[in-house]
Amino acid sequence: MSMHDLPVAADQGAPTDGRAGMRTLHEGDDSLLIRIKNLLLSRDIRQQIRLAQAGLANLLMLACVGMLHWLDAAGATNHPYVWPWTLSAVGGMVAVFALIRSGRVMHWRDPSLTLQQMLYAILCSALAYCITGSARATVIPILAVVLMFGMFGMTLRQVTIVGIFTLMCFGAAGAYWMEHPHPSDAPGVEVAHLMIITIMVAGVVLLTGRLHGMRERSRRQKAALSTALERIRELATRDELTGCFNRRAMLERMAEESLRCVRNSTSMCLVLLDLDHFKRINDVHGHAAGDLVLRGFAEAARSQLRATDVLGRWGGEEFLLMLPVCDIDHARQCVTRVLNRLSSSRFEVGEGATLMATCSAGVTQCDGGESIVAAIERADKALYRAKAEGRNRLICG
Ligand code: GH3
Ligand code: MG
Ligand code: MG
Repeated sequence: MSMHDLPVAADQGAPTDGRAGMRTLHEGDDSLLIRIKNLLLSRDIRQQIRLAQAGLANLLMLACVGMLHWLDAAGATNHPYVWPWTLSAVGGMVAVFALIRSGRVMHWRDPSLTLQQMLYAILCSALAYCITGSARATVIPILAVVLMFGMFGMTLRQVTIVGIFTLMCFGAAGAYWMEHPHPSDAPGVEVAHLMIITIMVAGVVLLTGRLHGMRERSRRQKAALSTALERIRELATRDELTGCFNRRAMLERMAEESLRCVRNSTSMCLVLLDLDHFKRINDVHGHAAGDLVLRGFAEAARSQLRATDVLGRWGGEEFLLMLPVCDIDHARQCVTRVLNRLSSSRFEVGEGATLMATCSAGVTQCDGGESIVAAIERADKALYRAKAEGRNRLICG
């Protein structure tokens, strides 16, 4: 969603009393501000972030320009170079901003042009260092801020490139000052400057490496957390033995589907399925065989259902099937398929022995707005009749 789609703050707190005129004025102000902001920063939220970063870098550059002109007024610069430097520094940064805003670099690996902006800012800092006579040490903290800008957004490789470029630019500037020392320079001051800059670059590269490691760790932790969350969600909604939805998840899905039925004027069908003489299977073949049949039933049923049908374990050896957007005739066909599939399945219960299982079903249609509880009760009564009439059958109620 773009910022343009967000509600305007004035709309939320707008007075509703007799100050309607004032409200109109505020709305006009806001829309003008938003139009200017959209013009500068675009409507794409990611572009806005990139341009806001570039804008911040431009502000930093403006602050440096201000400082240089202050020093110039105090007579501490090589005056003829101050305006050419100012124009090229500001012009370069504005050009970068315009390039990002134009969207022409959108397909580049880094559409924020962070590396390019940093290299340009470092070059400008080195030139400022050359033209700022005895006060050139003031450029060093500014260089530190420029380097810090890249620590968060750039890769270790990019920061290393920036570090080498910094040492090359300031190495050349330092060589210039050693060749033409300023009259007020204390002996060895240039070497001290270069040492500070080298320590700064090394520190930034090391810290970026650490930050990179921390980001990587937090990315891994996030992935592990989302896997754990997925597992917890699975455990909270699924029956472990059969993989079907559990009773609570089933109730939630039925409530959602019921609302959809009301909105779309459709019906769904609910089916209660209960395995026949299941206790006997447990008693004769053991609990493990019973579990095998429960899993086999769930698989057999799922193989006959649409992707939108929802099967849940309602309790013990009883299952509840929800067939969304379905009338009773289609439900009958679907459940008949499930019953046939189960009765034709054979379950291996060890030592070559196999057993078969059947189930009975109570089917009912639930129209939009009807109580789910009442529909389940109807399905339960139909199931009871299916049991009473001999099992392995379905009854519609
Ligand atoms: P009917 O045809 O009337 O439904 O008879 P039935 O034997 O299937 O029904 P009854 O309610 O008498 O027995 C259900 C059995 O299901 C009793 C219970 O021990 C068994 N059961 C419930 N949950 C599980 C389970 O998770 N695993 C196994 N193996 N058995 C279970
Ligand atoms: Mg049973
Ligand atoms: Mg039962």
